[in-house]
Amino acid sequence: MSKTIIEDDTVVSLSYTLKDGDGNVLDVATREDPLLYLHGYGNLLPPVEKALSGKTLGDTARVILSPEDGFGEYEPKHVQEVERELFPDEEIEVGMPYIVESEGSVMQFFVREVSDTHVVLDGNHPYAGKTLDFDVLVAAIRGATPEELEHGHAHGPDGHHHHH
Ligand code: ZN
Repeated sequence: MSKTIIEDDTVVSLSYTLKDGDGNVLDVATREDPLLYLHGYGNLLPPVEKALSGKTLGDTARVILSPEDGFGEYEPKHVQEVERELFPDEEIEVGMPYIVESEGSVMQFFVREVSDTHVVLDGNHPYAGKTLDFDVLVAAIRGATPEELEHGHAHGPDGHHHHH
């Protein structure tokens, strides 16, 4: 299943550097430890997938997204302060994700502040409000396995490794 062009149903390995609008590095994927994704299934932000469509091995792409096209504007109303004692036995550290389940819905928060008495949970995506500047290199392309197509996501370099 060798493929040489990025199109729907290909699994693509990317190395990339992601910076914010001020040039601060937010995230890096190296060629040795690339990001794998299944193209055409909405696994990446749509403008990034669009920029990669038709690219081939070794091609690069630079995609700069406004907050609106990325993870949205930063919403102060999604920040809430809760009592520290609601987290009795848990290690709470700034920056860690925190999942809240209530009434059947799941919300992802990040811990923004911790004091002796309170924890501030932030429901904004960590990249909310940021300009996203992707510098991407296509490190590998292959056809997806039937299982990957069924699941709608990539399963690792050889298509077998399964992580959910
Ligand atoms: Zn799967």
